[in-house]
Amino acid sequence: MDLSKRQQQIIAIVKEAGPITGEQIAERLNLTRATLRPDLAILTMVGFLDARPRVGYFYTGKTGSEIITEKLMKYKVETFQSMPIVVKEDDSAYDAISAMFLSDVGTLFAVDQDNNLVGVVSRKDLLRASIGNQGLQDIPVHIIMTRMPNVAVCYPDELLVEAANRLIDKQIDSLPVIERSNETGAKVVGRITKTTITKAFVELARNELM
Ligand code: ADP
Repeated sequence: MDLSKRQQQIIAIVKEAGPITGEQIAERLNLTRATLRPDLAILTMVGFLDARPRVGYFYTGKTGSEIITEKLMKYKVETFQSMPIVVKEDDSAYDAISAMFLSDVGTLFAVDQDNNLVGVVSRKDLLRASIGNQGLQDIPVHIIMTRMPNVAVCYPDELLVEAANRLIDKQIDSLPVIERSNETGAKVVGRITKTTITKAFVELARNELM
């Protein structure tokens, strides 16, 4: 983030004289407190300055990249996950293709009768099935899916950056988010995709500019 000349002056003053009130900073700059308010708000929000009631502003000593990293380390899977789109493992490949178009997703999660995760079906899995001769109505999803325990998953309380790393590592587009529980079977509660990560990336940039 590029700081304006005035914002740099404010940081220099707070570095040297903090804790210092907004009023005192304004005096040193020959400006009114009201003129300074937006700059102080930005510097506090972004993390360069901290403000304590009745004490004033002080310098946090953090660099721009430290502030971004700190924010990123607060991004949890559960905050960014989207709705999972699931099919039954006995549904046909034809049904799976319909579900993909209807829900506008590229990956479906397959569940058993108890709604536990048993596999993942991607576009490529369905394309592969489509170039065979068999009718797609007659091929069940469980024949073509990637099945447990080979499915890469993530958990709601994990860091988003860990999920992103798993997507890269496994060269896949999406991860089911599953509940952490002691029960047998994994309940799917969400979905993390490359789009999720792109959205989080843009949000990080927006926050940084705010
Ligand atoms: P696409 O087929 O749209 O390129 P992917 O690259 O995600 O999507 O899928 C490639 C292969 O990886 C498919 O065979 C799919 O079943 C498998 N796959 C997709 N997601 C996962 C996952 N979370 N864990 C394990 N395998 C997966």
